[in-house]
Amino acid sequence: SKLPQIKNEPFLHYAPGSAERAALQDELERLDKQASEDPLRVPCIVDGKDVWTGVAVRQPMPHHHEKSICVYDELDEGTVKSAIDGAMRAKTQWASWPQDERNAVFLKAADLLAGKYRQRLNAAVMLGQGKTAWQAEIDAAVETIDFWRFAARWAEHIHAWQPPENSPGVWNRMEYRPLEGFVSCITPFNFIAITANLPSSPVIMGNVALMKPAENATHAAYIVYDILREAGLPDGVIQFLPGNGKIYSEATLTSPDFAAVHFTGSTAVFNQIWRDVGERLDTYKSYPRIVGETGGKNFHVVHHSADLENVLHATIRGAFEYQGQKCSATSRMYVPRSLWPQLRQKLVEQVEKVSMGSPMDFRNFMTAVINERAFMRVQGYIERARASSDAHIICGGVADMSKGYFIAPTIIETTNPHYETMEQEIFGPVLTVYPYDDSVDAEQSFEAVLHLVNQTSGYALTGSIFARDRAAILKASDTLRDAAGNFYINNQSTGSIVSQQPFGGSRRSGTNDKSGSPVNLMRWVSPRSVKESF
Ligand code: GLU
Repeated sequence: SKLPQIKNEPFLHYAPGSAERAALQDELERLDKQASEDPLRVPCIVDGKDVWTGVAVRQPMPHHHEKSICVYDELDEGTVKSAIDGAMRAKTQWASWPQDERNAVFLKAADLLAGKYRQRLNAAVMLGQGKTAWQAEIDAAVETIDFWRFAARWAEHIHAWQPPENSPGVWNRMEYRPLEGFVSCITPFNFIAITANLPSSPVIMGNVALMKPAENATHAAYIVYDILREAGLPDGVIQFLPGNGKIYSEATLTSPDFAAVHFTGSTAVFNQIWRDVGERLDTYKSYPRIVGETGGKNFHVVHHSADLENVLHATIRGAFEYQGQKCSATSRMYVPRSLWPQLRQKLVEQVEKVSMGSPMDFRNFMTAVINERAFMRVQGYIERARASSDAHIICGGVADMSKGYFIAPTIIETTNPHYETMEQEIFGPVLTVYPYDDSVDAEQSFEAVLHLVNQTSGYALTGSIFARDRAAILKASDTLRDAAGNFYINNQSTGSIVSQQPFGGSRRSGTNDKSGSPVNLMRWVSPRSVKESF
């Protein structure tokens, strides 16, 4: 391989007194001061030029919603249309660059982020998306860097696959060309790594992309764009279009140059994209690629042979890190009734120790949920559980949005395995536990509960089995074959690492095109088979 050696970026620990902690604190203070005095103005960027549309929108900080981390000018229809035209012009040259040259842009971007921009981006997602320093580090630094570096490696793998046979007088080869059109990238608020990766993976394969960041992640997305620009990404190859999803979708999906969508967000929005694309098939040159990751209702299933201390720590992390706002967050749990009283006591003790508050205070394990809409949705689930005879709140349940959108880590116990919080995605710090009867025949009840897990929720993103007994692990792995695209054994349902656990799920959780792997990159090529006779 011509590439430098590629490994996962090491994680920084931010120990008290460390250089990285001091650097991060400086950035946090600088950004917080700027937000209070004169928030950064963020434009749309088309063909490398700032576009001010005159519709200014503020991005509030989740933990202190009166402060704006930036004020951005929202896209409008004309801006999206000129972005499409500009991207199509930029495509001719970008698609003709050798893979090595395209790789170089992303390898350089990764080095810039690993070095001088690391704390700037970490601070941006801490204040802008409400992450702790460690949650920021695994996302904004490590995962983003890994996505960029490994994409270069997977791109090489893709080009390396060539037809293994040639007949006498014949030479066959495969050309991995980009799609004929532009790729529309609609990115989520919860991972800036995904914000970076959704446009980057099609672009490294020679495509051009429109990037529509989530409203609540505009500031951090702008930094990502800037890093790519500094790394040498030519103007127009990625067009930066913050703001209104409706206007954006209408303008992109009616374009004859629309070739694909790369999406992470809610199941409802993804379903709408499929419908809109289906209705307009005659508009497009080719069948569009629709690649997306949506919701999850991720499970922890406990077998009676499980190590309870491990279950406890994995569950606290899986359910409550980043306030449960990961597609992969643990949100339903199945525990044998014989173990439940003991586990319940340990869980409640731990949850009561969880500290919540400003992301600038490094002692906090949790901060606020992203915005008022999220706060109201999560609070609704808590209020209905309080009123329901099927559910019982065993800890948490307190919510306060006077200053920031704070919701205490909450555990609901239910006697109904299909209670709404066992079925629906909440996207907040709420875990529901269903204790299952194991008093008569423990193995039979375990088997029955596995079928129940498989038939609940319709999602299939992540899930975990906790057991020491190998036969139980095997049984779970078999029965839950289609229930989780990322399946964990004695590990929390969150925290996939690029190139170690390619990520994605099926059913209502998405198209399972495994981000951070060649499976995903293959969706962005339209290969040509060439046969030459001599
Ligand atoms: N890859 C992340 C994890 O495993 C989740 C990504 C998401 O929330 O979309 O925790």
